[in-house]
Amino acid sequence: MKKTLVMKFGGTSVGSAEAISKSAEIVRAAKKDWAEVLVIVSAMSGVTDLLLKGAHSCAAGDGNTYKEIAAQLRSKHHEAIKGLGVESIASRIEPLINEFESLCHAVHILGEASPRAIDAISSLGERMSIHLMSARLNQLGIKSEAIEASELILTDDVFGSANPQMDETRAKCESRLRRQLQNGEVPVVTGFIGATKSGAVTTLGRGGSDYSAGILGAALAADEVWIWTDVNGVMTADPRVAPNAITLNQLSFREISELAYYGAKVLHPKTIRPVVERGIDLWIKNTFNPSHPGTLIVPDNGHAAGAIKAVTAIKGQSLITIEGRGMMGVPGVAARAFGSVARSGVSVLLITQASSEQSICFSVPENLSAKVIEGLKEEFKLELARRDIDTVSSIINTVIVTVVGAGMRYTPGISGKVFSALGNKGLNIIAIAQGSSECSISLVVDAKDADEAVRSIHQLIVER
Ligand code: ADP
Ligand code: ASP
Ligand code: MG
Repeated sequence: MKKTLVMKFGGTSVGSAEAISKSAEIVRAAKKDWAEVLVIVSAMSGVTDLLLKGAHSCAAGDGNTYKEIAAQLRSKHHEAIKGLGVESIASRIEPLINEFESLCHAVHILGEASPRAIDAISSLGERMSIHLMSARLNQLGIKSEAIEASELILTDDVFGSANPQMDETRAKCESRLRRQLQNGEVPVVTGFIGATKSGAVTTLGRGGSDYSAGILGAALAADEVWIWTDVNGVMTADPRVAPNAITLNQLSFREISELAYYGAKVLHPKTIRPVVERGIDLWIKNTFNPSHPGTLIVPDNGHAAGAIKAVTAIKGQSLITIEGRGMMGVPGVAARAFGSVARSGVSVLLITQASSEQSICFSVPENLSAKVIEGLKEEFKLELARRDIDTVSSIINTVIVTVVGAGMRYTPGISGKVFSALGNKGLNIIAIAQGSSECSISLVVDAKDADEAVRSIHQLIVER
């Protein structure tokens, strides 16, 4: 019998009584092969969005929307409770919806939502869904306790994208979980959340339940981590954009990192590192088609076969350009530019610089672009006045399309093929950047061209 397995079920996999039953069956099957099984769940699909909408509408002075949302949350969870026949847990869910209402009420009175308040509110979805899954397992005769990860994952206080402190987290997991696991019980833990030393609830970032699986898998020294979602593993493209996308049986750590970082929502990019570092096998599988093997993430294995493996896109980007003929003479422009961006608390997804040093161009999330430009104009006030730098400008509404494949570096002519694929469709490329690892090439295109760009590059993979 194999030892420790950590399984995470995403929002759709716990999105209804039926889905929860399917997920619970998967747990029951895994119990036959594994001595210790830990389950992590996301909020029911759509719930985190609703919670955040409640918080933001209150902060904007709207004192009614959150009440409608509370009613929706009640009916969604009660329907699942009824469908599963686990009425006894209604008394666990109701206080959490009341908590949502009180927190929203407080935000409405204050007229603002701090990052800490947002985390307290957005964490409620997982705090509810654990009871549904755990109750279903108990019903199947698998002893299970619902546990909030605030008891397990210690984080810093970067609300909204908190960072785990692994040593403390490991110790907490050992003392809180190990005995139960050894007894054959299946704890069901909230994804997405942790807590600071003083006990304030933090979240790990949107889509962060995958990361919870990576963290807990590493903390428990699991042998394997399985991410259960609603598609057959990692595919050659987002099947919602390219319906003819196919599953990739294997991907290297570096390939999946690039894909996840550049927008493939199927796996949160931070999941990978804690798992890779410990040599834990990582699988991505489909709850609704469990006999499909899914995707195995493997260590980087030198010469990867094939050229382009997958294509992905990250929407809502703004391309910022700093430009001027006098820039060549100004020392440290790039360092100062990125220093300024970092001080705005924004991370840059893509950088290109013309060799003449007459322009630097980089991509940031669109909603942060105004803040970044303001910071840059302040930083280069003197150079702008002297006309050493002519403009700091932005092109909004752009999308980064990224082509990934570790074999690309050994295959000449890939860029040419990619550019022709877009050219043939009359799609304009605004900027280009190639990862130094040559494992990825990124193109910036206008938002209206993005899906077509993905499909035309995807055709190169399919037709190979
Ligand atoms: P979960 O709630 O299970 O975490 P997500 O919605 O976060 O699920 O991620 C799964 C979704 O990711 C899929 O439904 C699919 O639309 C999207 N996706 C984007 N790129 C890819 C890709 N390359 N392969 C598979 N799915 C992808
Ligand atoms: N429920 C959280 C979100 O929607 C975390 C997750 O689903 O991974 O972002
Ligand atoms: Mg997800």
